[in-house]
Amino acid sequence: MKNIVILGSTGSIGRNTLDIVRAHPDKFRVCGLAVRQDIDQLYRQAVEFRPEIVCVFDKAAAQKLGGRLKRYGIRVVAGREGLLEVSTFKKAHQVICAMVGAVGLEPIFAALCAGKSLGIANKEPLVIAGDLLMRESRKRKVPVFPIDSEHSGLWQCLEGYPMSSIKKLVLTSSGGPFRKLKGSFEHLTPKRALKHPKWKMGPKITIDSATLMNKGLEVIEAANLFGMPSEKIDVLIHPEAIIHAMIEFVDGSHLAHLAITDMRPPIQYSLSYPERLNNHLPTLNFTQLKSLHFEAPDRRRFPCLDLGYEASRAGGTMPAVLNAANEVAVQAFLDYKMKFTEIAKTIKRVMQQHTPVSRPSLSQLLEADRWSRETAGLVMKGNKI
Ligand code: MG
Repeated sequence: MKNIVILGSTGSIGRNTLDIVRAHPDKFRVCGLAVRQDIDQLYRQAVEFRPEIVCVFDKAAAQKLGGRLKRYGIRVVAGREGLLEVSTFKKAHQVICAMVGAVGLEPIFAALCAGKSLGIANKEPLVIAGDLLMRESRKRKVPVFPIDSEHSGLWQCLEGYPMSSIKKLVLTSSGGPFRKLKGSFEHLTPKRALKHPKWKMGPKITIDSATLMNKGLEVIEAANLFGMPSEKIDVLIHPEAIIHAMIEFVDGSHLAHLAITDMRPPIQYSLSYPERLNNHLPTLNFTQLKSLHFEAPDRRRFPCLDLGYEASRAGGTMPAVLNAANEVAVQAFLDYKMKFTEIAKTIKRVMQQHTPVSRPSLSQLLEADRWSRETAGLVMKGNKI
């Protein structure tokens, strides 16, 4: 029996993780849940799965939940301290990280240091502090399992091969909702950008998919996870989203990972590894696949992709700066305070003002994150971009 903690249990990854637990009650048990503020959904989840501890990040919301879970013997904690307590909960074997944004970094690092294996679905921690996390993972011999579909695909393709035999890693992208859009992106609204053709996800990552920043972040994530320089990581537009990732060996052979566009298989594999478990999920029907298409990304119309490469090359604190500026810009766009085309320009301006610190500590990374958010705010206020 594997005891798991889910950070971000009410989001789409969190709910999918609970689905896997529901389907395999003999294999997995939930011992802790953490959410930002959705206490009604948390209450229902807690009553169904009976964890020993739950955390509500928003202290006011935690207070509202109050004693409602007491009669089930479930302890409620709150805030940053509560999040750290849940992520290092004694009985937990694995922590699933599915929180949006940089806020997940500290609890993940704490969990790793406490010897918990990690399943990381939100890419931000691996973008901001991937190098630090992977160093800690190697040092402590505690595994980090990727859940992001492309990286889970890469991990499954790479298994058993030395990195010296690998020439290239390939991440595919559906191209997002604006792949075929002609004309200017200037007046695109959040409503349009939130309609993703292939994946159902939260708003932040859906906007990242529309700008291709999602792929820029994934390049950094892959570079950090697999210790591969970003120039050996390619991005390929593949609208059908059947192939999630490929590896090319030095001898010219390729291996590809194919699956349906559903997060449950990568979540399940991160929990069951090295075992593979039966499930009742739909699977690919090859006779119904008419054709698979591939094209190069349009780097001019989607400048966020190259910002990702640039940040990966610069290394150190630069990916943290890119990520934080992107979070601020995407939120401003969602709030109708920034144009779609200004997202990339804002991030670029912030990156230009940053001198990266190499081999940063966790506190230096958090400081870079804070600086970048502040600077992005100033860039937006000046708004002469
Ligand atoms: Mg992905």
